[in-house]
Amino acid sequence: MKTRLQKIFQRRFALPEELLFEKVSLAQEIFENYGEYFLKLKDFVELLKKYEKAIEISNKRMDEFQSFSECYVCTVLEGKGCCKAGLENEATVAIILLNFLLKKELPKEREVPGRCFFVGPVGCKLFARPPLCREFFCRRLLDTFKQEEYVLITQAIAEELTLQGILVRYIKKELEFLTGEFLYELDITGYSSPGGK
Ligand code: SF4
Ligand code: SF4
Repeated sequence: MKTRLQKIFQRRFALPEELLFEKVSLAQEIFENYGEYFLKLKDFVELLKKYEKAIEISNKRMDEFQSFSECYVCTVLEGKGCCKAGLENEATVAIILLNFLLKKELPKEREVPGRCFFVGPVGCKLFARPPLCREFFCRRLLDTFKQEEYVLITQAIAEELTLQGILVRYIKKELEFLTGEFLYELDITGYSSPGGK
């Protein structure tokens, strides 16, 4: 893990996706070695199920209150949108690992040039998403929601991100106990630039 930490911290990636690929590869390694272990822990699995449900509720509210459709118009039809290339690095190893534990597929390549690695033709393809992606509401979206809708959406997101935080701390604490190492790399966002500049 120590060599991986050095690799993740280095800023000499040739391609913008390389940092993300490093994180995915580490998350995959952890999943292969410890996934079964975590999925046998009853309290962990209960938390994971609650988290999955919380994401579904957040998504349902965003759908009902036109958040997704407004972002679709902004991004796809108007070519604006805030899911820019580089933002994929908001996904930490822990968040990628949560997607694996939830049996969610990750895209293998960037589908829309100039956009976040996870953007698809109709929106984000990541199930368990980074906090920034959940908490950010631009002025356009804030103007779209009625006050009571905004309250319901933020309540759902608060529940989702609280559970995400509990799960990430759980995973980190357990892995640090099992491996005897400090696993700083699980929480790294980080941004790389081509040529390490
Ligand atoms: S959050 Fe705002 S800026 Fe970003 S895609 Fe949605 S409408 Fe556009
Ligand atoms: S919401 Fe999805 S597509 Fe947008 S920046 Fe976040 S991870 Fe990328």
